[in-house]
Amino acid sequence: MSLLIKNAVIINADKIYKKAQDILIEKGKIVTIGDSLKKDGAKVVDAKNNYVLPGLIDIHVHLREPGREDKETIETGSKAAVKGGFTTIMCMPNTKPVLDNCMVIEAVIKEAKRVGLLNVIPIGSITKGQKDEDLVDMFELKEAGCLALSDDGKSVVNSQLMKMAMQYSKMTGLLLIEHCEDPLISSGGVMNEGETSTLLGLKGDPGISETIIVARDIELANYLDARIHFAHMSLRRSVELIRFAKSQGIKVTAEACPHHFTLTDEEVKSFNTNTKVNPPLRTKDDIAAIKEALKDGTIDCIVTDHAPHTQEDKEVDFDHAPFGMIGLETSVGLTVAELVDGGVLSWPQMVEKMAFMPAKIIGLENKGEIKEGLDADLTIINPNEEWIVTEEDTVSKSKNSPFFGRKLKGRVKVTIYGGKVVYEE
Ligand SMILES: [Zn+2]
Repeated sequence: MSLLIKNAVIINADKIYKKAQDILIEKGKIVTIGDSLKKDGAKVVDAKNNYVLPGLIDIHVHLREPGREDKETIETGSKAAVKGGFTTIMCMPNTKPVLDNCMVIEAVIKEAKRVGLLNVIPIGSITKGQKDEDLVDMFELKEAGCLALSDDGKSVVNSQLMKMAMQYSKMTGLLLIEHCEDPLISSGGVMNEGETSTLLGLKGDPGISETIIVARDIELANYLDARIHFAHMSLRRSVELIRFAKSQGIKVTAEACPHHFTLTDEEVKSFNTNTKVNPPLRTKDDIAAIKEALKDGTIDCIVTDHAPHTQEDKEVDFDHAPFGMIGLETSVGLTVAELVDGGVLSWPQMVEKMAFMPAKIIGLENKGEIKEGLDADLTIINPNEEWIVTEEDTVSKSKNSPFFGRKLKGRVKVTIYGGKVVYEE
């Protein structure tokens, strides 16, 4: 079937195409971009007054299936993702069982294909059972369809094991994604260590638990000439280390989450357990540093770290609540409101952080750009529409967001995956 998008103001990572054009899509590919295109029998989508972006890519999502389908399933998570404008997501392996073997990874891929709303790529774990003891069989996981591995939720603490993982990552080409947290230092911390944690009497997690692993992995990557990708960077000091590493030509890339560039640890004063995330919300100064790093390219991409938890799980005292908040449906609105409207990123730079660079980092050659011949994954956004986040409108199975009631800007109107409309507002 053909799809014809009319009046598309196209935004790629390199520029905004000032003049609206039409995009003809056939068999899941972008066939022609041009003026006044016609095609008999094609479904027509009018993009007038909207921006057309390459389908957004989120390389850090928790779908909870298998094991915690009460929090989210591949199906409900897919629905939330396309509503948020995403056409490719990578899901983290801290499920039950852990995604550490081809059987469970193939099962996730099969279910995602059955749902069929978007491209779901499972991330395998680095160590078996995420136990920090033995490496997984990386060749097997690559064969099963993984592009990246991570023990997200925790670090690979054993440095020798991480060194070996990097050596194997060079052989397999798999990207390693490190959740940076030394558990002996962060031990028991439920929020950022600082004035607010002292005031609230909550145990603080000092930032050094993050930076110590960032620094170690930079050293390992340098020593082995290997690649490393840092998950959800939250601190000025982490950003400085990464900036230095990049200046030395060390192969590091990094991501940041909307909550880490919008909320400070003062939010925790509400004792709303939806503000409990790992790494924790930090300070104003850290937010400024994350923004600078996004602007100058030190941080390569924006991810959600979408981490659904049931109300039951979150309705406990702050100390005992699980870490995490949902994010797929608010990522675009927060990024436009805080970064684009805030003068931090231009629209093309937003595309770079949310589509182009994620595609580059994980090696998706046919995605991340709007170009003839590439996959017809597109996100149509009304750049000026303001909207309020509400629990009722949230389609994720879990509702653990600290953003309910907040006014955002930039509304996803249509999401197209493989030439098919998979979401329409
Ligand atoms: Zn993590």
